[in-house]
Order: sequence, then C-alpha cells, then structure tokens
Amino acid sequence: MMNVAVIGTGYVGLVAGTCFAELGHRVVCIDNDQKKLAVLREGGIPIYEPGLEEMVPRNVAQGRLTFSDDLAAAVKKADVVFIAVGTPPGEDGSADLQYVEAVARAIADALEGFKVIVNKSTVPIGTGDRLREVISARTEHEFAIVSNPEFLREGVAVDDFMRPDRILIGASDERALDVMRKLYRPLTREGAKMLVMDVRSAEMTKYASNAMLATRISFMNEIANLCDLLGADVDNVRRAMGADTRIGPDFLRAGVGFGGSCFPKDVRAILQTAKENRASLDILDAVMSANARQKVRLVDLVKEDLGESLVGKRIAVWGLAFKPRTDDMREAPSIEIINGLLAAGAEVIAYDPEAHETSSVFFGDRITYAPDPYACLEGADALLLVTEWAEFTSPDWERVWAMMRNHALYDGRNLWDPRDMTANGFRYRGIGRR
Ligand code: NAD
Repeated sequence: MMNVAVIGTGYVGLVAGTCFAELGHRVVCIDNDQKKLAVLREGGIPIYEPGLEEMVPRNVAQGRLTFSDDLAAAVKKADVVFIAVGTPPGEDGSADLQYVEAVARAIADALEGFKVIVNKSTVPIGTGDRLREVISARTEHEFAIVSNPEFLREGVAVDDFMRPDRILIGASDERALDVMRKLYRPLTREGAKMLVMDVRSAEMTKYASNAMLATRISFMNEIANLCDLLGADVDNVRRAMGADTRIGPDFLRAGVGFGGSCFPKDVRAILQTAKENRASLDILDAVMSANARQKVRLVDLVKEDLGESLVGKRIAVWGLAFKPRTDDMREAPSIEIINGLLAAGAEVIAYDPEAHETSSVFFGDRITYAPDPYACLEGADALLLVTEWAEFTSPDWERVWAMMRNHALYDGRNLWDPRDMTANGFRYRGIGRR
C-alpha cells in the first residue's frame, strides 16, 4: 500500500485516483473547485464516466479514497504526488502550463523529505525539466520528477486504466522508478506492460500517439469524401484496409471529424512545438484543416439537399457529446454542426443521453432539448446523427418515420445501413457512401 496524492480531480485525476484506490493504495484527490468537492463528498460524481458511480463510493466506504482541497497536507503524507490538472490551449496553440506550474509551486512549498512528483497531465516536451527548475527554486528538499502520460479514453476510462496497453514511465531517478514499479505492481503482475524511458521521450510519446490517431481519422475522412464523389463506399474500403495487419482496424472510421479535450489541443500543441523549433510537421497542418472541413460536412450535405437557407426547417440532432459514453463536449463536432445549422436559420432540437447540461453552456437557449430520441423528431425535416451512442444503433424505424415531416437522414457516423434506410423509405446520406 502506498500513500498517493492526486492533484486535479477531473476526467483523468478522478479516474486515476479512484483506480489507484481500487488497486489497494490510500489516495487523496485534491481539487480547488469547491463545487466539485461538495458533489464528491456527498457521494456524487461530477462527470459522467461509466464505472465510477460504483467504484468511488466503495473505495470511500473502505477508507482508501478521500477528497480534499488541502494540497499541502496531502503532499506531506504522500509517497507519490500526481499532477493531473488541465493543460488547455494557450493563445498560440501551445499547452498553457499555468495550472501545472501553480501546482508545482504549491507542492514545492509543502515538501518535507524526498518525494516523487509525477506529471500525468499532457505537457510539452521539456516540461519535466521546467518543473524541476520551478520546484528547486523554492525548496531545499529532495524530489524526483517522473513523466507518466495518461492514455485513457473517456467513456471507457476505468477499463483503460485498469487494463492499459502500456504504462509509460519517463524517469531517471532509481528511487522514483522503484516507487512507480511498486505503485503499478497490481497491474504489472497481471501482465500490464511497463515501458521505462527518459522523461522527454515519454512526454513526446503522448503527443506523437495522439497526433497519429488524429492523422488516421483525417486521412479516412478525406478518403471518404473522395469515395462520395466517385461512388465508392468508404465503409467497405475501411473494412478491407483494416484487415491488413500492417494497417490494423482501429481509428479508420470516417465521420464528422475528431473533437474532445485531447486530439485537437494536442495536435495544435505539437505543431506549435515544431514551429518554435523550426521543424516541419506539415502533415499535422493538413490533419487540422481536413478536420475543420469535416466538422461542417453534415451541414454542407443538408444545404445541398434543402438549400442554403434553412429558415423554417426543423432539424433534429441525435448526439451532442464528442463521443459516446461521456458528457464531455469540449471541441465536439456537434458545436460546429449546430452553429452552422443555426446560422442558416434552422430550428434545432437535440437529444443526447448525457450531455444536455454540458450543452447548455455552449448553446444557452438557442436550441431546445428533447426528453427522448423520438420526441426530438416531431415535425423534423431532417435527422442528423452526430454521436454514435449505442441506443441510436437500432431505433424503432417505424416510429422515427411517423414522427418526422420529411424523411431525410444524415448519418455522421456511418452507423446505419444505407440499403436498409432506403428500403424503409428514408433519404439517406452518410459520410463517403453515396
Ligand atoms: P479536467 O479539466 O477535467 O480536470 C482538471 C482538474 O484540475 C479540474 O477539476 C480543476 O478544478 C483542477 N485544478 C486546476 N487547477 C488546480 C489547482 N491549482 N489545484 C487543484 N486542482 C486544480 O482535465 P482532464 O480532462 O482531467 O485533463 C487533465 C490532463 O490530462 C490534461 O493535461 C489532459 O490533456 C490530459 N489527458 C486528458 C485525457 C482525457 O481524456 N480527458 C486523457 C489523457 C490525458
């Protein structure tokens, strides 16, 4: 058992802290957001992430997991301190390190004896060295900086944390490595792979991985748009490409572009790093511009069919979150899509199983929300599928038909079979499957 402090109780910190507790460690999760702490202390979960609602109360009840705003007390008791605060994009696109550095200063002021300080936030290459400077400027106590980038995916975060493809550790201090090995021992003894390297390579790996995944998505989206023009079906192309072991099947689905709190921000950040170092990363410039075009692709298709002006048109949108099983809407394609529809004069009514509350921050009262997917369709001139929640896969098509005024489906995730839809009497358009 180790004493762990996790600073920043967001999507990453709450999942990591809860999972470390589940692995038998004693964890305190620190945040400075009092509203979030109040929810957690009352047994609630401030975000939607499957699995947490069961795991958090159990670990709290068993005395392994607590929530607090007292960073200094938590640091003093901890064997290992994780930094898991946000690194949002700054004005030039690079990661804004103000939260990470503020936490580093607070940790420095609380140090008593040797401590392992682990950075889990996604940070530019060289941040480990920067943190070492920030902390050693304020304390005489010994410490080691470790980079432990997080690869969990929202929606399946608990599972990803407990069954990682790899645990990545960037460290040069043997004492710190020993602590990290003990900390993750419950996972490595079950077969999880731990890769140990220098801090800068670990920091780079996180950006390079996200940039590669974003590249695959933009690549397939551009292939899909070409398929659309040439009468090929990108879904057939995807399946056959993915069967090639050199390519593999993941991240080949065409759709409405990538969003979320990581891919767009991390690609912009590594682009900025390349620029600062006068290196070319042209491929990622293309990835971002293809993605910007793709995010409005559904709006373009709707306008092709219904005209440039959508005044008097009622458009139903299924799915707001940037992907299923989360309420997160940071950089979600739904934002550009709905703004595009509203700008053309459409009335928008939306349904998402989890994201109505998050969505109100983006749209205020400019759109309305339906209590269920079918109510969303009443009198609709078109249905846009934006997020592929499982409940949208096989709806009651007769009911869908009966609710809609005009039977046009725009499938932004290629979720439905075009032949079935046409047989059901709908006008169907997907991404790259004309
Ligand atoms: P988040 O915004 O959900 O959470 C960050 C938390 O830190 C917030 O609760 C905030 O109140 C808290 N915080 C900020 N300053 C603080 C301070 N001084 N003291 C205490 N708490 C403070 O962010 P997130 O999505 O969890 O991301 C955290 C980091 O992990 C980012 O660098 C992100 O790029 C990276 N990451 C995120 C994901 C993901 O899927 N969300 C996956 C891998 C890596």
